[in-house]
Amino acid sequence: MTARDPATAKLAAFGTTIFAEMTALAVETGAINLGQGFPDTDGPQVVLDAAVEAIRSGRNQYPPGHGVPELREAIAAHQKRFYGIDLDPDTDVLVTTGATEGLAGALLGMLDPGDEVVTFEPMFDSYAACVALAGAHLAPVALRPGPDGYAYDPAELRGAITPRTKVLLLNTPHNPTGKVFSTAEMADVAAVAREHDLIVVTDEVYEHLVFAGATHVPMATLPGMAERTLTISSGGKTFNTTGWKVGWATGPAPLVAAVRGAKQFLTYTSGGPFQPAIAVGLGLDDAFFAGLAAVMEAKARRLGAGLAAAGFDVVAPEGTYFTTVDVRPLFPDGDGAALCRALPALCGVVAVPNEAFYVHPAEGRHLVRFACCKRDEVIDEAVERLGRLAGARR
Ligand SMILES: *Cc1c(COP(=O)(O)O)cnc(C)c1O
Repeated sequence: MTARDPATAKLAAFGTTIFAEMTALAVETGAINLGQGFPDTDGPQVVLDAAVEAIRSGRNQYPPGHGVPELREAIAAHQKRFYGIDLDPDTDVLVTTGATEGLAGALLGMLDPGDEVVTFEPMFDSYAACVALAGAHLAPVALRPGPDGYAYDPAELRGAITPRTKVLLLNTPHNPTGKVFSTAEMADVAAVAREHDLIVVTDEVYEHLVFAGATHVPMATLPGMAERTLTISSGGKTFNTTGWKVGWATGPAPLVAAVRGAKQFLTYTSGGPFQPAIAVGLGLDDAFFAGLAAVMEAKARRLGAGLAAAGFDVVAPEGTYFTTVDVRPLFPDGDGAALCRALPALCGVVAVPNEAFYVHPAEGRHLVRFACCKRDEVIDEAVERLGRLAGARR
């Protein structure tokens, strides 16, 4: 065994993801895992059947590098149907190995060493790692919880832009906060991007998990933004197929080509039989998509009420799988990471400390994330267990 450190220094700061640690803890202790965001029920039967049919009918070899035609057409039709966005399925759509590869491909395909990326923190954990792999610099702007949910300071956003800023990376609906950026916030972010000639990469994997009262406004629909926006999404969160890893990037041909330039050397292609199945899903009727949001909203409310009853300060989500809480009413030292490590022993539940989603962990030290994308009886059992916390502390 060589004495050299085999790991790249670029990833030295990242270690093992918190999800691996917390999921291992859940398995070890038999606790209910509300840490990682994956559903515990299957999605639409027609989508599952289409994948089985594709495998049986021999669609098991490399699909085309940019994706099978019926999926690229279904993605373009979906963007037109829901948002009025016009795309050419041949040049403006790229199928990727989940949104994760779309993001990696975009960042590796667009960034040079020294370039800067502005994003909001907390953030999905792959963002910082991919920016680091590209040799670029990440400048995060804080989203802070307030009476109306999470918000950013517009002056802080402007202060984060430098002459080296090339990409503004935006996730809405947002993981881990459950925030859906408002029309006014989207217009503000768009104005900054236009003013500084930035490319905007948007992660919209929760586009169909938006609750009553909030509206998902795709960046590409705002004035002057279609030509500078790469939109990334995925079938995983919409069709309860997170293990299939079928995602996509859409936008103007030069932006899509930049992603493809990197993607061709990452996976080249993937998900052969799953691609036509996701195409079937994207064509489901409006009732399916509306029902999805309504079911998730009911779960979020069910979990949120239980978290509040347990004594946490709950930040009500506007969408996604996630609800975040301020732990300080129950645990005044405000150490969310220590609480998450202790939680399985305290009450048999696993959650994720928000500090794992920050470049500046102190910003999120007192916040913890719970996932609601579980069967109602699982949520109810978790809530009952969490209810023991107040008693345990008194
Ligand atoms: C789940 C998730 C992803 C990853 O999507 P995949 O299609 O599973 O790769 C990307 N971004 C956010 C914000 C997510 O929550």
